[in-house]
Amino acid sequence: MENLLNNIEEITLMGPGPSCVDPSVLDALSKSTLGHLDPSFIKIMDAIKEQLKTLLHTENQLTIPMSGTGSSGMETAFVNLVEQGDPVLILINGVFGMRMQDVASRLGADVDTLEFEWGTPVVVDEVKAALSKKDYKIVAVVHAETSTGVKNPVPEIGALLKGSNAIYLVDAVTSFGGIEIRLDEWGIDVLYSGTQKCLSCPPGLSPVSFSEKAVDAIKNRQSKVPNWYLDLAMIINYWEGATRAYHHTAPINMLYGLYQALYLILEEGEGAVYKRHMDNHLLLANGLADLGINMLVDESCRLPMLNSVHIPEGADDAGVRSALLKDHQIEIGAGLGPLAGKIWRIGLMGHTARPENVEKLLGALKGIL
Ligand SMILES: *Cc1c(COP(=O)(O)O)cnc(C)c1O
Repeated sequence: MENLLNNIEEITLMGPGPSCVDPSVLDALSKSTLGHLDPSFIKIMDAIKEQLKTLLHTENQLTIPMSGTGSSGMETAFVNLVEQGDPVLILINGVFGMRMQDVASRLGADVDTLEFEWGTPVVVDEVKAALSKKDYKIVAVVHAETSTGVKNPVPEIGALLKGSNAIYLVDAVTSFGGIEIRLDEWGIDVLYSGTQKCLSCPPGLSPVSFSEKAVDAIKNRQSKVPNWYLDLAMIINYWEGATRAYHHTAPINMLYGLYQALYLILEEGEGAVYKRHMDNHLLLANGLADLGINMLVDESCRLPMLNSVHIPEGADDAGVRSALLKDHQIEIGAGLGPLAGKIWRIGLMGHTARPENVEKLLGALKGIL
């Protein structure tokens, strides 16, 4: 009988996620499965909470990985906080801001949006003007907009919100592990991330962190959280306290993988990891410029881990991507929405962000073009 797993090739993942996974993380996934209430496993859970708090620079007690991909973190953030008719402001400059709008609207929030051209950042003064006109329960923004390669001014928006009643909600799916996040210092109340971008772990978990202010807002809800699986009031009894209560079976082996991925980042050193992302981004941008390929996003707000580049004149978008995959075992990403057919998205996330990968891609592109 044929086993399809024997056909899996090693692909250099240089798209918008998933990213390349370190062999030690794959080894971690294959360790013996423990029971979800086994004391040794609970030790690993507690260690993961500490690893996340260290890397996010937060004292938030409620800092845990949710079972599910990055989008489950987005759902967790909104479903635990939003009640019918709550005023929510969402800052949109790409796909993931739009997804936030969809998620919040489905929960019955009264959603206002501020939209900015894709490929450009959120303008802080426009946010300031909107905040002076209306009080919002939640203000939400994507830190690293993976659909465009733009870094949004998360600390600056946080500074605007300091002292207000609004809950500051940040999508850090692509930023976490690739650029600095100082959760407490920046006044972030709710943050969610994902494992398969700069944490370089396969997809399947979503680290989240909630401030005391956000936890109070959850405690003061008038209505029940309308989603059983993501209700933090219940999940917390599994992740905290002397005796742990079953809620759902934790994805045990995925959590081994996340532990190892975070271990690697802490071992290399946070600063060194961010510098490695930036160094490889610069190496890539310079090499692409030599090939006549230009970046979409202005240097002032470019993400190191997600490089959006204009497809050069005359090049066949899908043809080049498929040649990269078939002939060179390299995956890069296509453009989305208004940028479809206009850009490629080259990821340098986590373990992918290494000079040998940059050189391999530049060499392959040179040959194809
Ligand atoms: C990838 C991504 C998500 C969604 O994560 P999934 O793991 O695909 O569910 C959300 N926000 C941003 C910014 C992302 O890049």
